[in-house]
Amino acid sequence: MTECTHPRSKGAKRCRACQFAHMTGDRDIAARRLAAIKAHHAKPEVKLANRERMRLMTADKMQDPAEVERRREHGRRQYRDFLSRPDVVAKTLSPEVRKRASEKRTATMLRDIPASMRGEYLELVRSKNVNAAEAKAIILDQWKKQIAARAA
Ligand SMILES: [Zn+2]
Repeated sequence: MTECTHPRSKGAKRCRACQFAHMTGDRDIAARRLAAIKAHHAKPEVKLANRERMRLMTADKMQDPAEVERRREHGRRQYRDFLSRPDVVAKTLSPEVRKRASEKRTATMLRDIPASMRGEYLELVRSKNVNAAEAKAIILDQWKKQIAARAA
């Protein structure tokens, strides 16, 4: 990296333009920045805040009938131009893709249920005639007891 010869503020190593060039040109700096960004977005509180912000933004957008119609039209276009193509349909129906979709759907639908207890949860809801809220409360209660037992 060539040193900056431009006028710069007191104590600074480089002028603004050279500083940006330095930061974007250096692989180490780029890697560290990427790692910091990933670490930030992996924090549970950041994930939750982002999810909530997206939910509010979507709810706000869906108040506008023109936006609803625009999205509906986008969906129709997607189906017409892409999703109905025979090669895409074949891919969509392949067992591997169905399996991945199923796993993803389960992870979303049961995101509040610890992965190790999803089987028990489904057992409660499907065959013990417990409603989802009660089943969730039971499972989370058991889970907390397990954690407490492990900690003790
Ligand atoms: Zn400079």
